[in-house]
Amino acid sequence: MPKPRILLLYTGGTIGMVKDFTSGTLKVFNFKKLLQNIPELRQLDCDIETLSFEKPIDSSDMEPAQWVKMAQIINANYHDFDGFVILHGSDTMSYSASALSFLLKGLTKPVVLTGSQLPIGDLRTDAKENLITAIQIASLTENGQPYVKEVCLYFEYKLYRGNRTTKISAEHFNAFTSPNYPALAESGVHLRVNRDLLFSSTNPEFSITGSFDGNVVIVKMFPGITAAVLSAITNIDGLKGIVLETYGSGNAPSGDWFISILRAAIARGIQVVNVTQCSGGRVNMGQYETSASLKEIGVISGADITTEAAITKMMYLLGQKVAAAHFKTLFETPFCGELSQ
Ligand code: ASP
Repeated sequence: MPKPRILLLYTGGTIGMVKDFTSGTLKVFNFKKLLQNIPELRQLDCDIETLSFEKPIDSSDMEPAQWVKMAQIINANYHDFDGFVILHGSDTMSYSASALSFLLKGLTKPVVLTGSQLPIGDLRTDAKENLITAIQIASLTENGQPYVKEVCLYFEYKLYRGNRTTKISAEHFNAFTSPNYPALAESGVHLRVNRDLLFSSTNPEFSITGSFDGNVVIVKMFPGITAAVLSAITNIDGLKGIVLETYGSGNAPSGDWFISILRAAIARGIQVVNVTQCSGGRVNMGQYETSASLKEIGVISGADITTEAAITKMMYLLGQKVAAAHFKTLFETPFCGELSQ
């Protein structure tokens, strides 16, 4: 049986950075060169090819154009490789993982995003374990077929569905969580994959479709938000979508001013999605009086989706120019396990 072939794509992030000892800042380094100094990679039971963004970036500079670029690289190499590992800064990794999950239709191979909190050359680095196990996961096969067939995120011993993750720590190696969906796999003495949790696409053919529309905004509720602020945001020129981060199970201020500003925005064709600002749980509009009116005016339920997946799904659907009448149904329907109905 030939060894699995893995494409390792470096987009940037701490994992491939080195410390500039004069300024003390972390800077992007030549990642290919760095990898040549990691003998452990040669022990892995797969063939690895590396590719790097021409100009690797800190993931805070990540933009939709780079999501599309990553998808295009996967598409161009899809038939030549069994799995893909994307090295990415942790700051916006959950956004990229979500965006890729929508772009890569009919995926039948693993795409594993990983990175690290400390550079790979650092003595106490978390990068080696993350990188090595991510490659091992991307190499898993059963009867010659890839085992994992979705966009995942591997960090600190856990494999998650990418579009279910959120970054929770700028300090701990355990930087991510998946509040509303269990880990797909755990790495300990053994690598345990929970087969029942894995996603399998019903799309018969792999393709990459779509672009992203950036005319969107995330509005987080806070006690004291004023009509002037909400009105200014909803009247932004060209705005097409709002992800409303509400309290608890989808609750927002019940004052007339609040509802009428949102009603007017929806009447102007702006799509409004309700997600919870809690780190776990789901939106259930109508459970409380304070969310019943949101439902009445046509606010879309984000159910248990993360903010990261909600904003990227909104940008994706708007980029696809889906008919306004279908937007709600499409948003509320899971495409690749990003929400549970
Ligand atoms: N600022 C870095 C980035 O997201 C942090 C990291 O790599 O984890 O690119």
